[in-house]
Amino acid sequence: MALVLDRDFFKKSIVNITHLIEKERDHLTELDSDIGDGDHGINMSIGFREVTKKLDEFDEAADDIAGFMKKVGMALLGKVGGASGPLYGSLFMKMGTDTAGKNEVTFNEFTGMLENGVAAIEARGKAVVGDKTMVDALRPGIDFLKAQSVNGNEVDVFGEFIEVMKKGSDSTIPLIAKKGRALRLGERAIGHRDPGSESSWMMMNAFYEEMKKQAE
Ligand code: ADP
Ligand code: MG
Repeated sequence: MALVLDRDFFKKSIVNITHLIEKERDHLTELDSDIGDGDHGINMSIGFREVTKKLDEFDEAADDIAGFMKKVGMALLGKVGGASGPLYGSLFMKMGTDTAGKNEVTFNEFTGMLENGVAAIEARGKAVVGDKTMVDALRPGIDFLKAQSVNGNEVDVFGEFIEVMKKGSDSTIPLIAKKGRALRLGERAIGHRDPGSESSWMMMNAFYEEMKKQAE
């Protein structure tokens, strides 16, 4: 049976993200201490705690997935400090773009939502693959998803998408940064993973965890 992702899927995935960020907060902060200012885990934790606190309120006030995602994105934008706040805020806001009037989406519609979200991160941050940012995980992931034809194997395809993103995050380790705080380090950034590339695959993994449950 084809997967149907309803509003509850999005709510539960966001709760999953919050739990995951709490669990990984110190790890993300450590990565950011190596090549940034050591606040990435804290920034993310503050943002997602706020979103989770208001999740029911957002849900009740929204007419459709578009309205709900917009509220989530705005909350992240307002609460998450640093570069990642506006970037992840735009991801969620733009994920809603094509879902006006919808309270459930198909898998293809969902991957379209992610595509819109990632395009918004690229438009806002102007980073391209190889700049040692979250885009190094997100862009190859989205390109992989776009190239797949799904036919009853949606959950497996999404699992492979996560693996592609993880590899993208690994690919940031040997790079010199061209965007963000790590830029100032020059060659000293070599040998360190970009923190945003790690948080971005983890965030997508939280959607994957929920998708697996819904497909059971
Ligand atoms: P800050 O760098 O302001 O302290 P965070 O520590 O929360 O903010 O987030 C850092 C992450 O943001 C980086 O690891 C990188 O992945 C991402 N990032 C920074 N600048 C950009 C950009 N221009 N485009 C895409 N991602 C970026
Ligand atoms: Mg930082």
